[in-house]
Amino acid sequence: MLMTAPRGTRDILSPEVEKWQYLEEKIRKHCRRYAFSEIRTPIIEHTELFQRSVGETTDIVQKEMYTFQDRAGRWLTLRPEATASTARAYLENNLFAQPQPVKLYYIGPMFRYDRPQAGRYRQFYQFGVEVIGTQDPAVDTEVILLAVHLFADLGLRDLEVHLNSIGCPQCRGAYRQELRDYLAGHLEELCPDCRARYEQNPLRVLDCKQERCRQVARKAPEFSSYLCEECREHFQLVQGYLRSMDVKYQLNPNLVRGLDYYTKTVFEIVSRELGAQAAICGGGRYDGLVEECGGQPTPGIGFALGMERLLLALDNAGIKLPGREPLDAFLATIGSEAQAPALKLLYQLRQHNLRVDKDYLGRSLKAQLKYADKKEARFVVILGEGELKRNVVLIRKMATGEQEEVPWEQAVEKILAEMGGVADGK
Ligand code: AMP
Repeated sequence: MLMTAPRGTRDILSPEVEKWQYLEEKIRKHCRRYAFSEIRTPIIEHTELFQRSVGETTDIVQKEMYTFQDRAGRWLTLRPEATASTARAYLENNLFAQPQPVKLYYIGPMFRYDRPQAGRYRQFYQFGVEVIGTQDPAVDTEVILLAVHLFADLGLRDLEVHLNSIGCPQCRGAYRQELRDYLAGHLEELCPDCRARYEQNPLRVLDCKQERCRQVARKAPEFSSYLCEECREHFQLVQGYLRSMDVKYQLNPNLVRGLDYYTKTVFEIVSRELGAQAAICGGGRYDGLVEECGGQPTPGIGFALGMERLLLALDNAGIKLPGREPLDAFLATIGSEAQAPALKLLYQLRQHNLRVDKDYLGRSLKAQLKYADKKEARFVVILGEGELKRNVVLIRKMATGEQEEVPWEQAVEKILAEMGGVADGK
């Protein structure tokens, strides 16, 4: 029986993988400029971490986690997101003892038992940033700016920044009560999930995707009128800084985000190109998370961006990313005597940073040339018995079919000269 990858997971192969590498390079470049350093956390964590931080009543914890017991009976979970892991790592590695804030970014796979569809997978990749250790609203703005600048650099234009504040535990209490009172009159119209949310976590009703729930949500009381003085001022400052950086944003009172740990600023960046799975990037402030994970009260903010969705949005916008990289040169050999010298020549060319390869299947010269053509080789270096005897190689320019015989010792130099500045520029 042929084995297949589990549902909702997939292999990423060339020429797609080159696009991933290109995006990852861009991401690292922007993170460097914004003075973030990378963190790599384990893919498995104790289940309790997500139950406590993401929240018992969230879809992620209730329905979407890959949770299992290891052989020693420990409950472990494949991480559904990496903010909780980052907060755990912040505490476990005493990062609070370093100069604050700590600015971290990650790129890696996340796992959610979601219903697979275009732009939604069970193993998907997120790039995310986290700033832990400051409440400064300028940081909220900078985190949003990083995403906005990355998108602009990639050429994505049709994006909207949706912004909201969901306050702090103090102001949320009063709002939650008000919202519950309002929802009580509309329970019949809500989906079964939202009826449960009404009991456990009424804010979540606001971002339900079901049309009937959305209609109810549209007329719900807005959080903005319930924000406490501190939260209101914080939100005003974030918006002022965004305007001063010419970032266009839309206030979206229904944006509450699905995770329990969010406070104050929440945001999403959505692409009009993406249809149903429009959110490319989502994030917010989580001033209670570190404490929830067992540390001192420590504010934080971050976002996570879905790599598959970003690629989809780029594709839909007609933005071409680099694909498979062609070969600089291919070594065509004939006969066993040519093998050792060919390996040496390959080695020398690689020392000059060229991408080169040879035949390993003992194919005919014609078949080797065909292969080189498929691999888009710029040059083929032919090393047959005749050439070997005379201590020369034949260099064939694939674009024109021109061939030139050069002494063996000059082969590398000749190819480098023919490549012009290309090799040095790599
Ligand atoms: P979240 O952690 O749910 O806020 O998600 C942050 C971002 O990750 C979303 O905006 C999506 O771009 C991406 N994302 C979330 N879930 C999935 C999924 N199942 N498949 C692909 N991308 C996802």
